Amino acid sequence: MKNFYNRLKFNQSFAYHKLQQWLNATLPCALCDAPAIAGQNHDDILLCTHCVALLPWYTTARCPQCALPNLSGTLCGICLQHTPAFDRTISMFRYAYPLDRLLHQFKYHQQLAWGALLANALLKQLPDLPVTERPDVLIAMPMHVNRIKQRGFNHALELAKMLHQAWDIPLEIEGCMRVIDTPMQAGMDMKTRTRNLRGAFKSQPSWQGKHVMVVDDVMTTGASMHAVAKVLKQAGAAKVTALVLARTLKNEEG
Ligand SMILES: [Zn+2]
Ligand SMILES: [Zn+2]
Repeated sequence: MKNFYNRLKFNQSFAYHKLQQWLNATLPCALCDAPAIAGQNHDDILLCTHCVALLPWYTTARCPQCALPNLSGTLCGICLQHTPAFDRTISMFRYAYPLDRLLHQFKYHQQLAWGALLANALLKQLPDLPVTERPDVLIAMPMHVNRIKQRGFNHALELAKMLHQAWDIPLEIEGCMRVIDTPMQAGMDMKTRTRNLRGAFKSQPSWQGKHVMVVDDVMTTGASMHAVAKVLKQAGAAKVTALVLARTLKNEEG
C-alpha cells in the first residue's frame, strides 16, 4: 500500500513538473517581451537572459552593519557614531533598475504569485549562511493591519516564508507587530522617519538571548529596521540581522 502511495505521489509530482515546464515555455520575460528563461525549475522563469544580466547585483565592499558602500569593507563612520540597533545587514542587490520595477510590481500590483516566484528565484542566489551567522528565528518587517488590508498581503512576510522553508529556521509570524500606522516614509529624512516611528512597533515579551533575522524587501534609510531592532533588543534579543533583497544607495535614491 505504501508503495502505491509513493508511486502516486511520484506520478503527481511528475505531472506537476511537466505542467510547469509547459507554463515556463509560454511565459514572456517580465520586463520585456523576449521569451523568459525556461529551466528545469519553475522559478527559473520570469526574466530573459538579457534582463538577468541587467540585475543590479551588489558586489562591492560595504559596511557590514548598514550595508552602505565603503572601500575598506569595515564599519562606516555613521555606524560608529550612531550605532543602529541591528548588528548586520545582508543585501543581495542595489535598489536600482530593473529590480526596482520588479519589486514595485510585487508590492503594489497584487502580483503575489508572480512576485513570490521572483523572490524565490532571487533568494536561491543567497549563499548558505555560515553556522555562526544562522539566526535562531526569522520575522518579517511588520506591516500595520490597515496596510495589509489595503495591499492584500505583507510582501516581507512572503519573503520570510520562503526563507523559512529554504533554511528550515523557525518563523515567528506575530513576533513583532506594527501597532501605529505611520505615514508613508518616502522622501522623509532619517530624523523625521525615526521620530515618526516612535512606538510604532510592539514586540512579543521575550526574545531572551535569541539571534533574530528581520526580513524585508528594501532598506532605504534603515529607520524602520532600527526601530524594530530596538524593540527586539529591549525584549532581550542578543543579535539582530537585517536581510533585505535590495539596499538603496545614496546616489540611486528616488
Ligand atoms: Zn527581458
Ligand atoms: Zn555603516
